[in-house]
Amino acid sequence: MLDDHDCIFCIVDWHATTVPYDPREMPQRIFDAALVNIACGLDPDRCTLFVQSAVPEHTELCWALMTVCPMGDLGRMTQFKQKSEQHRENVNAGLFAYPVLMAADILLYKATRVPVGEDQLQHLELAREIARHFNGRYGETFPECNAKLSPAPRVLGLDGKAKMSKSLGNHLGVLETPEALRRKLKPAYTDPQRLRRSDPGRPEICNIFTMHKGFSTADVVERIDRECRVAGIGCGDCKLLLADAIDARLGPARERAAELRANPGRVIQALDAGAERCRAIARETMREVRDRMGLRVAAGKAGDR
Ligand code: SF4
Repeated sequence: MLDDHDCIFCIVDWHATTVPYDPREMPQRIFDAALVNIACGLDPDRCTLFVQSAVPEHTELCWALMTVCPMGDLGRMTQFKQKSEQHRENVNAGLFAYPVLMAADILLYKATRVPVGEDQLQHLELAREIARHFNGRYGETFPECNAKLSPAPRVLGLDGKAKMSKSLGNHLGVLETPEALRRKLKPAYTDPQRLRRSDPGRPEICNIFTMHKGFSTADVVERIDRECRVAGIGCGDCKLLLADAIDARLGPARERAAELRANPGRVIQALDAGAERCRAIARETMREVRDRMGLRVAAGKAGDR
């Protein structure tokens, strides 16, 4: 959370519909996503949190942006190729256009900084490209958006291969019990030989070390960086230290989540307030977009010709 920024966080339910899902479970998934985000520190009094489908302008702007986005650019997206492989039975047009909807999510609010993981940099670059295409064709409308990466920009799953993902079953759940975290971390993939052979300054090739950078104190990170190279610490102990660090950060989040579950109205209220604020911003942007694209017929203009 950046206190000097007006931060907007969106639960992207339209994006979630591009892969097979059970509609009966979706409301709970949306609610849980909001709850987890608030429990982990998004304070609805200091930022805006809302559900994408509650602001129809996201899909409307997506259509406008699709008309300036070259097909070839979408075909090159790595995530499209990966997801098409994962969901061969359902390679739909929504999956293909996913990055354009993501561009709409960003540009609708004229965002200038977007917190993303390294895997989303390609999509963000495309959003910048789409904004340039639109501005070039219809006049300066959207600002340049830049990435904001965290200290652990690329966290792999516990298998050490694919990106951490619930659907791949290689994830650590934010609200999991300390026991479950330790149980899952125990067999997590590491590669100490490779790490010790590596050049100094490249310890990030171990996924456990990357997670330490996200959760542990600077002292612990420095100690592991040093001791791992000389076999001063074993992977088992290193993972226990990581579990302690995760507990320290997520323990309070688990407590807040339990409070919110007992009082779900607070989550719904935050989402409603967020959607109302975002609809007002989005309406304004779409008014400008329609004007730029020549889609508003005003009395005294076209009618006079
Ligand atoms: Fe990775 Fe830690 Fe093992 Fe080093 S000691 S390889 S950082 S898990």
